Amino acid sequence: MQKTAIAIHGGAGTITQATLSAEQDIAYKAALKEAVEAGHQVLAAGGTALEAVELAVVYLEDSPLFNAGKGSVFTKEGKHEMDASIMCGKTLEAGAIAGVKSIKNPIKLASAVMLHSEHVMLSSYGAEEFALAYGIEFAPEKYFFDKYRYEQWSEVRDSDIFMLDHTEQRDEKFGTVGAVAVDQAGNVAAATSTGGMTNKRYNRIGDTPIIGSGTYANNRTCAISCTGHGEFFMRAVVAYDVSCLIEYKGYTLRQACDEVVMKKLVAFGGEGGLIAVSTAGEVAMPFNSEGMYRASKVAQQETFVEIYKR
Ligand code: ASP
Repeated sequence: MQKTAIAIHGGAGTITQATLSAEQDIAYKAALKEAVEAGHQVLAAGGTALEAVELAVVYLEDSPLFNAGKGSVFTKEGKHEMDASIMCGKTLEAGAIAGVKSIKNPIKLASAVMLHSEHVMLSSYGAEEFALAYGIEFAPEKYFFDKYRYEQWSEVRDSDIFMLDHTEQRDEKFGTVGAVAVDQAGNVAAATSTGGMTNKRYNRIGDTPIIGSGTYANNRTCAISCTGHGEFFMRAVVAYDVSCLIEYKGYTLRQACDEVVMKKLVAFGGEGGLIAVSTAGEVAMPFNSEGMYRASKVAQQETFVEIYKR
């Protein structure tokens, strides 16, 4: 039987031991552990990689700790606009949504777009209308209100500064979420969900819903989910680049991830990281920032949870 593996992230950025309190450290690690183990349960029970990554991301979207779903950051208008995408490595089918305002779990909507529409990406009102037709749960604006994120946004609201949720300006470092997995049948899948960047412009869309940039899965190689400064990740076509290095140049998963995250992105000035799982069940979680909320579980091995550089 194929070795299962799942990895998740909760964002990368200026996250150090000095900037997180002991309570925050515990809370983040507990949330990551819960999400990765929920995804692992799906795989252990014979579920698909797609089901596992969607469930793990739902857990992270429901937590106020991360910049996705409930914890989404504020835009320049003081609103929330969320992006998400999901991809199946077996069929190369993908679904994405961008700029939705009132969807409780954007990853569920991205999944519905993949499964029930002829399109890959729907945005804004069109995406929400589609959600209505498929019984996807909506949430009122107050559901997404978070005091810390409001304060974080208040510091930059009158400026043109837009920033990663986990920026140096505040002690709270949160982030975009994602999951990648390989199931018992050897199929990989990837899912990513975000509120984007604090104080981003009205209708700004980042890398998260762009297939090939923030998210990619292909059974010939691996599944990838990214987090970081989206503008750079789009221009570097990060997720697809990792897959291509494996497919066309014969790189190992680790070599491909290091090449893109530690060399190409660093030279570009693109801060962030990614998680990747190969069809053989290898896991890589490289980042070029101070830290990245991350966790993984390979087969029945002990759950790995980490935040800082090690
Ligand atoms: N990549 C996301 C974006 O640019 C932000 C993040 O990863 O925190 O929208």
